[in-house]
Amino acid sequence: KLQQRIHGTTLEINLNALTHNYNFYKSRLKPETKVMVMVKAFAYGGGSVEIANHIQTMGADYLAVAFTDEGVTLRKHGISLPIMVLNPMEESIDLCHQYELEPVVYSPAFFKMVSNYCQAHDSKLSIHLDMDTGMHRLGFEEKHLEELGLLLEAETRLRIASVYTHLVGADEEIHKDYSLRQLKLFKKMKGKLEHLLPSSTLFHALNSAGIVAFPDFQMHMVRLGIGLYGVEVTGKHASSLRSISTLKTTISQIKTLEPGETVGYSRKGSLPEGGKIATLSLGYADGYDRRFSNGKGYVIIQGKKAPIIGNICMDMCMVDVTDIEDVKAGNEAIIYGEGISLKELADRIETIPYELLTNISARVKRIYY
Ligand code: PLP
Repeated sequence: KLQQRIHGTTLEINLNALTHNYNFYKSRLKPETKVMVMVKAFAYGGGSVEIANHIQTMGADYLAVAFTDEGVTLRKHGISLPIMVLNPMEESIDLCHQYELEPVVYSPAFFKMVSNYCQAHDSKLSIHLDMDTGMHRLGFEEKHLEELGLLLEAETRLRIASVYTHLVGADEEIHKDYSLRQLKLFKKMKGKLEHLLPSSTLFHALNSAGIVAFPDFQMHMVRLGIGLYGVEVTGKHASSLRSISTLKTTISQIKTLEPGETVGYSRKGSLPEGGKIATLSLGYADGYDRRFSNGKGYVIIQGKKAPIIGNICMDMCMVDVTDIEDVKAGNEAIIYGEGISLKELADRIETIPYELLTNISARVKRIYY
C-alpha cells in the first residue's frame, strides 16, 4: 500500500496462486516427470529471483532463462537449482562455467566452440542440445546428427544434461498435425542419439500448452512457462488456473469536460456530450501498451469498466469515468488481475498474453504476498 502511494502503480504477485498453478500442472504429469520452470524475461515479468525462490521450495527440478546474465542474477541471489540458458552468447560461456549455468548448444560449430573452451580451461560443463524439428529458430537439424554423433563420441568434458525440441503452436488446434509431426521427428532424432548419451540425459518437448495437448509426450521433463503465471493458452482449463498478478494504479486527478473539449496529445480523445475523466498514474513507460489508446483498452474502477480515452502518455493515461459515481483522486484502478482475462485484453490489441506480462517495466514495483 505504501509503495502504491509513492509510485502509483504496483504489480502484486500472489505466490499462493503460483503454488496452485504449479500443482495443477503437476497433477497432469506422471509422478516421475520432471518440471523445468521458465523464469526467463524476469519470470514473465513477475520477478525472476522471487519466483525462482518460491519454485525452488516447491521442488521443481530445473529453471530456464534466455540469456546468461539472467542466470547470473539468480545465482547471485542464492538460487541453487540447475539453470539452463536457452540462447547463450558465445562470449558468455566463461560466465556459464563460473556460475554453473548450463548453456544450450544448437549447432555443430557452437558445440565445437564450447568443447574447445573446456579443453583450453581444463574444465567440464553441463550442456543441453536443442533439436530443430520445425520451429526453425535455433537447433540441430536432422542433417546435422551424423556430425553431432561424431562430436559426441569424441567428447569427454561436456555432460549432455538434456536434449529437447520446441513446438510451434501447441496451443493452436490448426497446428496440431504439425506439432505431432515435430514430436515424431524428435523421437526419431532421439533414437539416433541416445546410444551416444548417458542414461541420465533428459529428453523433453512440451511447454504449458503441450502438457495439456500432448500428454503422451511428457518424456522425462516438461518446460512450464505461461501456465504457471496463470494463463491457460489452450483455453481448455482456463478456470483451473489462478491469476498470479494484479496490475494496479492510482487516480491522480478527476476532471469534468464540457461538450467538444478534447483529451490528451493530438486531441485524440473526446466526449461529445461532455463528462468526467480520471487521470491514472500509468503510461507506456510502465509497459502499458500504447495500442490500448482511444477505447481499445479499459481499466476497472469500483468494479466497473472505464475505457481509455485519448492517447496513452509516457507516464499517465486518461479514462472515461462519466458513469462511475463517487470516484475521486487517490482511488485505485485495476488494469488486470483475478477475473480479467489477459487473453481478452491481448486480443484487443492483436497481441498475446506473454507480451502484456513481460512488458511491465522495471520501475513498476513488484509486491509479493
Ligand atoms: N520452452 C522454450 C524453448 C521456450 O522458448 C518457452 C517459452 O517461450 C517455453 C518452453 C515455455 O513456453 P510456455 O510459456 O508457453 O509454457
